[in-house]
Amino acid sequence: MKHAGEPSFRDSVDLMFNRAVALMDLPPGLEQKIRVCNSTYTVRFGVRLRGKIETFTGYRSVHSEHMEPVKGGIRYALSVSQDEVEALAALMTYKCALVETPFGGSKGGLCIDPRQWDEHELEQITRRFAYELIKRDLINPAQNVPAPDMGTGEREMAWIADQYARMNTTDINAKACVTGKPPHAGGIQGRVEATGRGVQFAMREFFRHPEDVALARLSGGLEGKRVIVQGLGNVGYHAAKFLSEEDGCRITGIIERDGALRDDKGLDVEAVRQWIVAHGTIKGYPHGSFVEDGAALLEAECDILIPAAMEGVIHKGNAERIKAPLIIEAANGPITFGADEILRNRGVVIVPDMYANAGGVTVSYFEWVKNLSHIRFGRMQRRAEESRSRLLVEELERLSADQHLGWTLTPDFKEKFLTGSDELALVRSGLDDTMRTAYQSMRAVWHGRNDVQDLRVAAYLVAIDRVAMTYVSKGL
Ligand code: GLU
Repeated sequence: MKHAGEPSFRDSVDLMFNRAVALMDLPPGLEQKIRVCNSTYTVRFGVRLRGKIETFTGYRSVHSEHMEPVKGGIRYALSVSQDEVEALAALMTYKCALVETPFGGSKGGLCIDPRQWDEHELEQITRRFAYELIKRDLINPAQNVPAPDMGTGEREMAWIADQYARMNTTDINAKACVTGKPPHAGGIQGRVEATGRGVQFAMREFFRHPEDVALARLSGGLEGKRVIVQGLGNVGYHAAKFLSEEDGCRITGIIERDGALRDDKGLDVEAVRQWIVAHGTIKGYPHGSFVEDGAALLEAECDILIPAAMEGVIHKGNAERIKAPLIIEAANGPITFGADEILRNRGVVIVPDMYANAGGVTVSYFEWVKNLSHIRFGRMQRRAEESRSRLLVEELERLSADQHLGWTLTPDFKEKFLTGSDELALVRSGLDDTMRTAYQSMRAVWHGRNDVQDLRVAAYLVAIDRVAMTYVSKGL
């Protein structure tokens, strides 16, 4: 958590925004309009559980409605507060603008430790919270579309979708009221791993630019890079798994809430995750060495540090000691404003949260579009691709016969060739494309302007410019 005396998360985001906006020339007053959070709804509701009424506090904050619906996850954690949801909602506005998903920014949260309640109880709590938000159009396919975040997942999204459908029986677009649903309940393939996959694609794109790699005092590609990841939740787990299994990175440290593991030869991410699922803790894992003070491992020697847990973990108190030359913010706001300055001055390259973890909302967008179009994602593309492929196969066979080439296309070849584009493949390539394009737009500002020294400011400049253009063209 942030160091004593540092600004709150909300203020930290605003200070970062201010740093960028100082380099812009916005029409008078627009800066303030974009910066402020439009509204935050607080609800306290009771649920009868275990023989008594339990009262819960929840929030849904709408940062910017320059585009609607507004978008952003719902978090279940004891850290949830108005300040936190407002900071996260603001980041959603900039994130959506940066990766060009046509949404405004929002975020919700419930102040709860989900591990304290069983599944049935969580369903009652979630449905009641959803009821409160649906009544106020704070969950609605055209106005406000939540998604998973820390402490929530497919299961909660399915309950929310069902609650909305019950309360809006004639809404043909009901399924689009929330994203991150299980595939059998209107979700899309590849959404669960989307944020981690996006982190991987972001790293791949970064390492395609030797100039940028050199600025991080590194060289070569991802192969063999030593990675420390904080948080083996949905985002950290998938990012570390893909980077190690597919790109040859070595996961030399995994930090969890109850300690950390270290192994310079590289940890098996899948095995560690299975251990945590089975034992509820990282402690006792039979390989590598256990480190009691997990946070201390943030400061260990490595090539890439991936904070994928929560905000404020790199603060003024430890920023001087961080050794990683490259940090990719898989979590939202893991580096405080003060720490950001210290790290920048030390030449550390930071790939900012609004870009690094945008894979989730990108695939949420695909899911929302799929729900609204009422057609299986990729179905039309698939028909077109299949007919092109079929023509090619026929042409090859005809050529072989005409020229007496004696080629025979095996059934295996034909099958592979004729079924090229399933939903998962489309989601992946759409995500890859989005992560590449967004990186390049940030990079152009980073390298193209003398007054821009870091990727975070570059990301803010691109995002704020897009939000501003929407406001200006609306005539506001
Ligand atoms: N909670 C995720 C985020 O912070 C996903 C949001 C969404 O898909 O709407 O970006």
